[in-house]
Amino acid sequence: MLNVQNLHVYYGAIHALKGLNFHLEQGEIVTLIGANGAGKSTTLNALSGLLAAREGKLEFEGEDITRTPAQDIVRRGVIQVPEGRKIFATLTVMENLEVGAYLHPDKAQIEKDIESVFKRFPRLKERRNQLGGTLSGGEQQMLAIARGLMSHPKLLLLDEPSMGLAPILVEQIFEIIRDINDQGTSILLVEQNAQMALSIADRAYVLETGQVVLEGDAQEILHNPMVMEAYLGGH
Ligand code: ATP
Repeated sequence: MLNVQNLHVYYGAIHALKGLNFHLEQGEIVTLIGANGAGKSTTLNALSGLLAAREGKLEFEGEDITRTPAQDIVRRGVIQVPEGRKIFATLTVMENLEVGAYLHPDKAQIEKDIESVFKRFPRLKERRNQLGGTLSGGEQQMLAIARGLMSHPKLLLLDEPSMGLAPILVEQIFEIIRDINDQGTSILLVEQNAQMALSIADRAYVLETGQVVLEGDAQEILHNPMVMEAYLGGH
């Protein structure tokens, strides 16, 4: 479904991605793990068209999207869910969801989609008229994911969904991610919480300074001594 070949991305003189290679098959949860600065967010931003590739090739469903503008990538069904604080703080929960539906401006369909999102996130339903900026961190994260679901994604790009959340909320968010995947959406998950990410992913890639240093089945990576030492606190 997604194929990334020899991806190089720069910020000015900084060479952030140095020939990244990975792929994702339809229906998979693939996770990219790695320390701060490894290049995880940069990878998502390159895939969603927010950053340009200096070199390399990005393919989605067999088509070259390396130079495709961000709005067309969204139209193809690749939806990036930014870290939760990036919801619209001055819009209500409902308005945030409506913005997420801008690709499908059919009113009846939007109402149906909002109902189904509220079923998945009852907390958001209770807070439907509250401003986004006044939600708790966990609620904002849920809203960010819910907004992404409003555009019927084929592939969700999730950037650090566990960031800043209490452990109980992290578990809830990961259950929701697994459930979204069970219903047919493929997921590329970027996480610093390697333990949680590996526990729900099918496959994983470990990034260091803009390159893949290890890849494999998520369970294998979870038990890899090098990964345990570096990312799982040695347990
Ligand atoms: P984190 O989890 O801390 O966000 P990450 O793995 O997502 O880490 P990136 O944010 O992708 O890492 O950063 C990769 C490299 O690119 C880092 O060296 C970072 O300093 C650099 N970088 C990221 N954004 C910019 C920017 N806007 N300008 C200059 N350098 C940047």
